[in-house]
Amino acid sequence: MIKSLIDRLERHGRIAREEYITLMDCSGEDAGYLRERAEAVRQRVYGRDVYIRGLIEISNICKNDCYYCGIRRSNAECSRYRLTREEILSCCEKGWELGFRTFVMLGGEDPYFTDEVLEKLIGEIKRRWSDCAVTLSLGERSRESYKRLKAAGADRYLLRHETATAEHYKKLHPAEMTLENRLRCLNDLRDAGFQAGCGFMVGSPYQTKEHIAADLEFISDFRPDMCGIGPFIPHRHTPFKDFAAGSAELTCKLLSIIRLIHPAVLLPATTALGTVSGDGRERGILAGANVVMPNLSPKDAREKYDLYQGKLHSGSEAAENLADLKKRMENIGYEVTNHIGNVKHI
Ligand code: SAH
Repeated sequence: MIKSLIDRLERHGRIAREEYITLMDCSGEDAGYLRERAEAVRQRVYGRDVYIRGLIEISNICKNDCYYCGIRRSNAECSRYRLTREEILSCCEKGWELGFRTFVMLGGEDPYFTDEVLEKLIGEIKRRWSDCAVTLSLGERSRESYKRLKAAGADRYLLRHETATAEHYKKLHPAEMTLENRLRCLNDLRDAGFQAGCGFMVGSPYQTKEHIAADLEFISDFRPDMCGIGPFIPHRHTPFKDFAAGSAELTCKLLSIIRLIHPAVLLPATTALGTVSGDGRERGILAGANVVMPNLSPKDAREKYDLYQGKLHSGSEAAENLADLKKRMENIGYEVTNHIGNVKHI
């Protein structure tokens, strides 16, 4: 019964909301079949390649106050930093030498990074490393701003929708942030010509299976080029400090479901998944993920970009230990590639 549901999802790219819940609850042989089908679809589109992205955490200064996030404005314990243009460029240089061909600039909503500042920075990166893609993950901006960043040469933009249910969104964010604006941003990013990514946390406070089913439905409607999902992990200096972390098991099932919804989506095995489970990245890849994003930031920035407790930033999470990551991927039959790794249109 569940197997035929999985086959139907693979054929049509969508099933009903209640059916997503049935799939999230599956176990044993059924869960094994879900994973196998997702892996088969992933191999049909992306073979055994694992795309890598060099993550540069450019600033932990943020004007927002999201209840789950360690770098939220109200966290007075957070030691703030902002990388200089020279520091960012030297991260790219180091990354290029290591074999990275995508740089992801990630940060809080730091007002210092105006359109002008970013245009110059993106222009310089694309001039010096013209064979590389630039991905931005800098939060909510105006339609005009997204157009300017695209025109300056940025290729991709990640903006997790966080949850597709307005009332759940309100429980995760203060009143000045709305799901409506988040979705407006995603549509503007797509209109501006970006490869656009959405996503959500698994096991975030107050999240129900119905909310996750709505997220999956949103993904099948929006058809993002990228989709970032990882377990929620509490941070001790946030209002959500006493909530439990999300599970690696459910995250992996959702990676498989998302792969079946959207065969060509770029799907990372995230740092948060690697943080809750020692072999999280491997499990993510085996569940249908095809991207990993090691950290290229300067060492002290890695520690200060403290979104949640225990965030990994050393070992194979560190860009300089790419050999270790390569070996871990080889051990499970996959291969890290230096390919630029754009989304495939199938
Ligand atoms: N300011 C940017 C980047 C945010 S950090 C933006 O708004 O898009 C990237 C992602 O980290 C967030 O979208 C969120 O889903 C995730 N995140 C934040 N706090 C987290 C936590 N406590 N546990 C797990 N993931 C978290």
